[in-house]
Amino acid sequence: MNSETKILIIEDEKPISRFLQVLMSGHEYQVKTVETAKQGLLLVANWSPHLILLDLGLPDLDGVAVIEEIRAWSNTPIIVISARNKESDKVATLDAGANDYLTKPFGSDELLARIRVALRLAARDQISMPMRFQISDVTIDLSLKKITRNETPIKLTKTEYNILKFLCRNAGKVITHKQILQEVWGNNYTEHAHYVRIHVAQLRRKIELDPAQPMHIITETGIGYRLVDACEV
Ligand code: CA
Repeated sequence: MNSETKILIIEDEKPISRFLQVLMSGHEYQVKTVETAKQGLLLVANWSPHLILLDLGLPDLDGVAVIEEIRAWSNTPIIVISARNKESDKVATLDAGANDYLTKPFGSDELLARIRVALRLAARDQISMPMRFQISDVTIDLSLKKITRNETPIKLTKTEYNILKFLCRNAGKVITHKQILQEVWGNNYTEHAHYVRIHVAQLRRKIELDPAQPMHIITETGIGYRLVDACEV
């Protein structure tokens, strides 16, 4: 129920925060708006929002520092909304623990969709991890470690499987190269983004109908990947 879902907006630009507030209220979300990081952090602690919309350029503290501070004690989903369009900024916020990133100007529908994904993933993480996924005609069964296309097994290497598993568990969310490297290879490999590119290319050859034009493992240029259209079954 949206009406029970609380969204905190931390944004110092009045027209944007007003727009966001109207949009969120119009979709039955409970909303509070603040203009500084300090007020935002207080409300994260005292109001316990289900999701945070965060501007990076705040008057008192940089957005990346805000994310790090929140992540020290809270898993509340954070969607960054920023005028900064540099890939390095996006990567820094995602690596700091933001769940998603939207560049201004953005469409209302896009933002609402990203909010739904973030809330769904957060709610799911609290219950249990789904074990079966469907990506067009490919079925991924994590409990059996079995990947099939129309009943025919697809053979993945251990690395390909681990990447696919990580993407499935974060379906709909953008994942950075560093996050994949940490998950699949470990902390000592976080600079080796080319490992990820090579193995994702192989994975696409096995999973995608047309690996040259992937429809499911989408490249977020300079940032990482997003698995789209994966259903839990
Ligand atoms: Ca700002």
